[in-house]
Amino acid sequence: MWYSLAMRDNKWLADLLFRLHAEYYADVPIMNLVLVRFARASKTRLGSIIARPRKGHKEMVTTITINELFRNEEEVPEYVIIATLLHEFAHYAHGFHSPLPQKYRYPHRGGIVNKEIRARGGGEILKQQESWIKNSYKPFLRSKRLI
Ligand SMILES: [Zn+2]
Repeated sequence: MWYSLAMRDNKWLADLLFRLHAEYYADVPIMNLVLVRFARASKTRLGSIIARPRKGHKEMVTTITINELFRNEEEVPEYVIIATLLHEFAHYAHGFHSPLPQKYRYPHRGGIVNKEIRARGGGEILKQQESWIKNSYKPFLRSKRLI
């Protein structure tokens, strides 16, 4: 099978998460199998993370999913996906849906996810993503006749 360069498929997504782990979360050990893929086109949900048992694995398997609509490389900037992956991996680092010790009682309360991302140097990317979601996401959805 041929791959085009930087085509937004699941392999590209996994490579991106691998690089982001090295760049932003190198001190956070990956303790179990972590899978990532595009799934569930959604108007509201950018990504998700869940750990569950899986056949053939003793440990829980963590699955990170990214909104299928973000595959669109002409219209959705890469930083939208990067910020979403940084968000989902912050949960992993905090011990939600990962074998790591749970650091907080609730996954989002007190803005802990964005604080984590900012502390790791992702503040600018976060701002870019927020601005795209605020200004461009609705027109994008409208152009696809999703709203
Ligand atoms: Zn979250």
